[in-house]
Amino acid sequence: MQSELRKDYLLNKYVLITPARARRPRDISEQTILHRDKKCVFCPAAVEKKLIVDEIGDKEGWQVLAIKNKYPAVTLTNKKAYGTQEVIIEMPEHGVEFSDLSVSDIENVLRMYQRRTAALSKPLPGGKKLDYILIFKNNGSKAGASILHAHSQVFATDIIPPDVQEEITAAQRYHTQFKRNAYEDIIKKECASKRFIYGDDLVAAFCPYASAFHYEAWLFPRRFIDNITELNRREITAFAKILKTILQKLNSLNISYNFFMHQIISNPHQYFYIKIQPRDSVWAGVELGSGIVINSVAPEDAAKFYRKR
Ligand SMILES: [Zn+2]
Repeated sequence: MQSELRKDYLLNKYVLITPARARRPRDISEQTILHRDKKCVFCPAAVEKKLIVDEIGDKEGWQVLAIKNKYPAVTLTNKKAYGTQEVIIEMPEHGVEFSDLSVSDIENVLRMYQRRTAALSKPLPGGKKLDYILIFKNNGSKAGASILHAHSQVFATDIIPPDVQEEITAAQRYHTQFKRNAYEDIIKKECASKRFIYGDDLVAAFCPYASAFHYEAWLFPRRFIDNITELNRREITAFAKILKTILQKLNSLNISYNFFMHQIISNPHQYFYIKIQPRDSVWAGVELGSGIVINSVAPEDAAKFYRKR
């Protein structure tokens, strides 16, 4: 395959797909997890009780814990950087990979995301509202993970990030023009393409046409929903399974990754989905200078890799 310049579905962003430069997956190696045996502030005995905001567990103790971020960049008392940040500790055990959790344990993590999204989207005293709730995970050193106890984070603010806003505006324009939901069309098209990874009647996963990251993957519910609280029981199970499968495949390459769930509360044009962005590629001169990203792993090849069992 020759190099090819591709435009994002909705954003005015470009990616240069250059598979000729690709390294083979087995040549990639990165130490993503170090010092598995150490203890940390997210271990059950060390968690400060006053930081706990929610927990899922049983008589034996918690299984998933939500705590306030002790060092937040935004707070509800700062008018100049307004918002709130929480940490979701995904399991009591230290040094276990998220993708090694059982499907039912991953379901509990997703349920905690639902509970925190519901709690944080309620109106606040003084009529303020957190309009944007981002749930994300940094896994591995290159993805920015600073603590090696499986956790994800919630970042909620009243500002909608420009890229997210631009995507929504483009989706609105698409709807006005074609009278159809842009994301439903993207899903339909990608599920019939070489970029398709997996799908059933509840979820669909594919590598996006203009993937900016090696092995980037997007996970959509088949049904249009606007935030994670609307996922039903069966959809939670379907997401837990596909998330586990894809992240296990990534771990087999030892690649750090981030995943993101952007949620704008009460916007009818936003389709809820999960973006998995591995951090294998290094953005250098072209990316930083021109804004055009070079990706040497074609999404068609990445999808093939994910499909291989
Ligand atoms: Zn720990």
